[in-house]
Amino acid sequence: MKILVLPGDGIGPEITEAALAVLDRANAMFRLGLEWQLMDIGLKTLKAQGSTLPEAVMEAARNAPGIILGPVDHLQYPSREEGGINPSGELRVKLDLFANIRPAKSRMGVGLTGKPVDLVIFRECTEGFYGDRNMFMGRGEFMPTEDMAIAIRKVTARQCRRIARVAFDWARKRRRHVTAVHKANVLHMSDGLFLREVRRVAQDYPDVELDEKIVDAMAALLVRDPSRFDCIVTGNMFGDILSDEASEISGSLGLAGSVMAGDDACCAQAQHGSAPDIQGQDRANPTSLILSAAMLLDWLAARHQRAEFERAARAMEAAIDGALNNPETRTPDLGGKLGTRAFASVVTGRL
Ligand code: NAD
Repeated sequence: MKILVLPGDGIGPEITEAALAVLDRANAMFRLGLEWQLMDIGLKTLKAQGSTLPEAVMEAARNAPGIILGPVDHLQYPSREEGGINPSGELRVKLDLFANIRPAKSRMGVGLTGKPVDLVIFRECTEGFYGDRNMFMGRGEFMPTEDMAIAIRKVTARQCRRIARVAFDWARKRRRHVTAVHKANVLHMSDGLFLREVRRVAQDYPDVELDEKIVDAMAALLVRDPSRFDCIVTGNMFGDILSDEASEISGSLGLAGSVMAGDDACCAQAQHGSAPDIQGQDRANPTSLILSAAMLLDWLAARHQRAEFERAARAMEAAIDGALNNPETRTPDLGGKLGTRAFASVVTGRL
């Protein structure tokens, strides 16, 4: 099985190298039979090929059984007309990767607020306010005049139902509790539609409790007591913001894994961005991408009935937990001294 690997920008190549070192070891130990197809994207290909996501990469992505995507520095990209395509948004739409699944877990026992965190955010990621992907043609963001910008927020019943089902299915394997996060007090129609669909889906899961929270209160409640949340389902932008908050509260933005998944494809992607401020310094924490890769293995295990993939994923998680438990083997974002490469070799050694 050949996994497509796209290292991305900023710290992307460093954390991808670290994740592949761990995966190589898991691959050999559990006889997974994985191979890597490495391809450049981002600022590198913009310079060399005029696009941050060349068509050959899209073609490889369509055929890949799974993808590992490093973070991209799309704030620096030029317009689409000038070759700046956000690879993450484009892959989500073209491969129908509608579910961004983002766990946050305090892997060192407690999180930054002194409370344990163990929750998963389910974020619909193909519509909402994100103008680069919420239209069939054109953009959902435009400027009628030089001093006026308009963004359109798209919410469809189908996508609300799909993301709700993913959240409720996961909840059955966890603590059977789903919190729907919305702003229906102001966005009556669009978030009203979201809530209507989540409530309808909930009827098929009488064994799972549904709770509802307005997004601003939710931001505060996450800080006050993250332990009261299990599965959180929400739209694109709220999920983007709350998942960074949750992973930071769990210990660091560099800690949380993430996949974007659809019915037929899955892409592992770190939760954080390309961190240009620490690029090339061997300071990045590769945990997020390593755990994302483990989530991809879980997805492949379910899809191809390959139990050894799941065993490898559990071993990778345990190795990460072991490394993070010891203050001597942590990266600088967690107050430790280990660089990206050294941390990866500790994790590899613990497998
Ligand atoms: P960021 O997530 O890159 O960084 C925020 C802060 O967290 C920085 O101080 C950074 O050093 C730190 N940080 C992030 N990941 C870390 C890690 N693994 N280890 C240690 N520290 C880490 O957010 P930003 O600076 O706002 O954005 C930078 C670029 O990333 C922008 O172009 C943005 O558009 C892009 N971005 C990409 C993705 C993605 O590819 N999925 C997601 C978010 C942002």
